[in-house]
Amino acid sequence: MAKYDLMSDKAECFINPQNIEDVLSHARKRSQDRALVSEILEKAKKMEGITASDAALLLLNRNPEITAEIFALAEQITDAYYGNRKVLFAPLYLSNYCVNHCTYCPYHAINRNIPRKKMTQEEIKAEVIALQDMGHKRLALEAGEDPFHNPLEYILESIDTIYGIHHQAGSIRRVNVNIAATTVENYKKLHDAKIGTYVLFQETYNKKEYERLHPKGPKSDYAYHTEAMDRAMKAGIEDVGIGVLFGLHNYAYEFVAILKHAKHLEWKYGAGPHTISVPRLQPASDINLADFKNGLPDDIFLKIVALLRIAVPYTGMIMSTRESEHIRRQALKIGISQISGGSKTTVGGYAAHDNTTSKTAQFELSDERTLDEVVNWLMTLGYVPSFCTACYGKGRQGVDFMSICKQKQIHNFCTPNALLTLAEYLSNYASDADGIHSTKYIGAQLIEAELQQLPETMRKVVRARMEEAIKGNVKFV
Ligand code: SAM
Repeated sequence: MAKYDLMSDKAECFINPQNIEDVLSHARKRSQDRALVSEILEKAKKMEGITASDAALLLLNRNPEITAEIFALAEQITDAYYGNRKVLFAPLYLSNYCVNHCTYCPYHAINRNIPRKKMTQEEIKAEVIALQDMGHKRLALEAGEDPFHNPLEYILESIDTIYGIHHQAGSIRRVNVNIAATTVENYKKLHDAKIGTYVLFQETYNKKEYERLHPKGPKSDYAYHTEAMDRAMKAGIEDVGIGVLFGLHNYAYEFVAILKHAKHLEWKYGAGPHTISVPRLQPASDINLADFKNGLPDDIFLKIVALLRIAVPYTGMIMSTRESEHIRRQALKIGISQISGGSKTTVGGYAAHDNTTSKTAQFELSDERTLDEVVNWLMTLGYVPSFCTACYGKGRQGVDFMSICKQKQIHNFCTPNALLTLAEYLSNYASDADGIHSTKYIGAQLIEAELQQLPETMRKVVRARMEEAIKGNVKFV
């Protein structure tokens, strides 16, 4: 049996089943020990993160008072590291052709109920223009794995198309990519194509379960999938995004494993994951949710979000429209830093509204509000919606970003930049219907109030740059 070793790039060493079982067994034995729990909470209050073992112990603690303390601390940490800014993005589904047999995903190769569609470059242009008309600046590209229909060349050409579209007052400034695990050589090509974050969900870290859930196709190779981020980082991609699909396997196992993965990347490559996503299994075509016995209740799901925030304070956290407004509201408070808005999981769904397109959806959405509604909602909750992509353009990625973040310095850059992009959004895309409840009106008040919080010199810089930002020429701080 392989030995636990976070510095190894072998999946069975950094995600070591025996080590995870040991961590969980210790957590089960000691999780109700009040003195130990208090000691861990004291460590957590330093806001420098805690170990997977300590976090697992808190996860399994059942005392409601401790849970309340965990939520309160997660809220404080969110505020200390990220302030009140929330970054917005949208997924863009390029193709739902797929050769894999993932039992939870409607793209699986033998699903005959889903029409297959791959967008042409012209169709991608129409989608991106529709997304830009909504006000989006940051996309997450999604595609099934199919070397014939969606080879890497197709993904690269699509990225090039997207960055090349300058429509009215703007362009897409950051393209994140969520495609299947690939080779170092291909990751180098993605890096050269100037992607933002490379995102890949592990689905489950449990090897046996992984193999059962992925019976056929290239994705069935557990080690190759689990070691993908090592290859991506070796290829020069500095920002990687990890995640598990909650609902597939035991949540406590996944929780420990994702923290081990994060630590492994941090120790070995100097920067942990840029983001952690927390997708939960959704109803979808040809998928019977009753076949999955590990559904995660809302209260535990939110406790996981809070504990991830406490364990890795400097890692961004993403929640998609798989979750409802109600869950997203709570999750934003305790740690989520990025959400999608106005999303479609269909191939071609932003520009087209025909029936065939709607049947290409990957899964059902729980939040179907428009981007304008989401922006308006965020502001009424006291957040600053941000379309900022500055870190990427300024080279604040990977190790550099982590060190800025660890020193709680991202405020100094992010607030001014968020305000510039919000001004750009309000002027060009926001709705002004509804008087004092309109996105434009609320936003203008919010910007003014936020400007007052900035040091005078920075306030002057932001005011001076706002006119240009409105024309689409955002000059980031
Ligand atoms: N082909 C790439 C891969 O295999 O990683 C991209 C995947 S897919 C477009 C993006 C993610 O959707 C998957 O990694 C999976 O976690 C998630 N997903 C699949 N089926 C889902 C479902 N029924 N409910 C919620 N999320 C799902």
